[in-house]
Amino acid sequence: HQQHHTKLRVVVLGAPSVGKSALTVRYLTRRYISEYRRAVNLLYRHTICLDDVTSHVEILDVSQRGKERILTSHARWGEGFVVVYSVDDASTFVEARVILDALQRAKAPLYVPAVLLANKRDLDAGRQVSVEEGQALSLQHGCQFHEVSAAESHVGITIAFQSLLRETRSLRQAR
Ligand code: GDP
Ligand code: MG
Repeated sequence: HQQHHTKLRVVVLGAPSVGKSALTVRYLTRRYISEYRRAVNLLYRHTICLDDVTSHVEILDVSQRGKERILTSHARWGEGFVVVYSVDDASTFVEARVILDALQRAKAPLYVPAVLLANKRDLDAGRQVSVEEGQALSLQHGCQFHEVSAAESHVGITIAFQSLLRETRSLRQAR
């Protein structure tokens, strides 16, 4: 089996405090760090072997709020995108839609490999965004959708990142 080496760039976007840093650290370390407030963007590198293919992955955990101009530069840099909102805050869902729209505009006419993550599903008592609304948004943008909780488990997060990486990689190979 021939080994391919690819480099994949992933950007994690979303409103402040939706759990972007917690999710990213969960994916990379399987640990949950509950207070992870930093005012800077962080770039993580790791190597992953999926289906016999080794990929060098760079993950940019974005900290500043996405003005359109900043979003456009992240869209150019990235190849795959994790767009996060929090199920207990409807305004973050609105922002997720704005981000997905901006990514599509920036990449058009190319298809944008993305996963929409509804985080903090453990906060069900304070839920403001239904599963159905999340699914509908993902269908409108043709992206994957998962409800997760960085606080509760790494499992769904790992599945989501890995399927995004697979999709990003196969799209790259097709181009
Ligand atoms: P970011 O600004 O999007 O990077 O968000 P952070 O990762 O810094 O998380 C913001 C806050 O939400 C922190 O207090 C986290 O402890 C909390 N948080 C993150 N993920 C979850 C989750 O799945 N459930 C709950 N209940 N809180 C979470
Ligand atoms: Mg953060």
